[in-house]
Amino acid sequence: MNARTPLVAGNWKMHKTVEEARQLVWAMLDGLRAVPEVERVLCPPFTALLPVAQMLLGTDIRLGAQNMHWEEEGAYTGEISPRMVAEFAQFVILGHSERRAYFGETDDMVRRKVHAALSHKLTPIVCVGETLEQRRAGQTEAVVRGQVLAALDGLQPEQAARVVIAYEPVWAIGTGEAATPEEAQRVIGQVIRPTLAKAFGHEAARRVRILYGGSVKAHNAAAFFVQPDIDGALVGGASLDPEQFPAIVRAAAARA
Ligand code: PEP
Repeated sequence: MNARTPLVAGNWKMHKTVEEARQLVWAMLDGLRAVPEVERVLCPPFTALLPVAQMLLGTDIRLGAQNMHWEEEGAYTGEISPRMVAEFAQFVILGHSERRAYFGETDDMVRRKVHAALSHKLTPIVCVGETLEQRRAGQTEAVVRGQVLAALDGLQPEQAARVVIAYEPVWAIGTGEAATPEEAQRVIGQVIRPTLAKAFGHEAARRVRILYGGSVKAHNAAAFFVQPDIDGALVGGASLDPEQFPAIVRAAAARA
């Protein structure tokens, strides 16, 4: 029995109207319900959180948001607060590379959001990862270590242990060009987990779930999940496919 429950989260990004979201959930619901040993999280856009939450009532499938602001409420036009997210969701994706690249999200903003999420009993899925340029310049380790430390700065070990980290090399997201499982294991097992151990102690580091994300599909998922430090996946494109997403979840069950 693995001490860390495997987790597979689907990031729907800016896809699906309410009606389309309902159809997608219907199409995958049985497949997802059949794998209770994996924690399964659907992350639709904000507008579909309520209808999807209603469909998941009575199941153990969890719901996540894709972003949120760190303030409780206020004059922040267009933003969604942690309290609003926590009405429906148990998880929230924070610091996704698309937020960092297109919406100016900084390490400090991610840190504030992580603190806010934890204080609202939301589990943050914190995304870290290097760009292609940084990888070519040999900066992968420094970038990833810096993002992890910045996002979790100021947490107590007990809080850090509740965070989920997703290692998502930016060059692998949406490109069909996944990292090799060995590469992902190297960054997760030799950079991220040791960084956590140094900052928060071995016990907290041992408990943190670390996912791989970047072009995970049904055909390549299992190879990631046999790696000792990869506890699941954050899935983009394939989470919109009612066959592939449950298949990825089934592959993760081998870790349970
Ligand atoms: C993502 O958006 O987090 C992601 C990993 O996307 P994809 O699976 O499409 O590469």
